[in-house]
Amino acid sequence: MADYQALRQQLEQKRQEILQRLNEIQETWHRPVDVDLEEQSLELENEDVLTELDREGMEELNQIDRALERMDNGTYGICRLCGAPISDERLQALPYTDVCKVCAPDAEKLGV
Ligand SMILES: [Zn+2]
Repeated sequence: MADYQALRQQLEQKRQEILQRLNEIQETWHRPVDVDLEEQSLELENEDVLTELDREGMEELNQIDRALERMDNGTYGICRLCGAPISDERLQALPYTDVCKVCAPDAEKLGV
């Protein structure tokens, strides 16, 4: 079985970064709302952006968690859809992918 130690470290580091970012978002979010009306509408706009970031972060975190799980149970690097091995180049570029180049909708964009 291939040694994915470097990729695992990469995933765990990325995971920490996302967790930290989500924490910062949460802190910003729970700031008391300013009573000034103009400021308040600005705050609301910011909150929309934060919600979007939050959602993206959670999604990425999920993908990383699933990749780490697959590393643990030995299915990492194998295409979820066709069962073919995922190329090392693709795993390097997208460590939490679970589909091969053939099955992935984003393969063309990445080129791996
Ligand atoms: Zn496939």
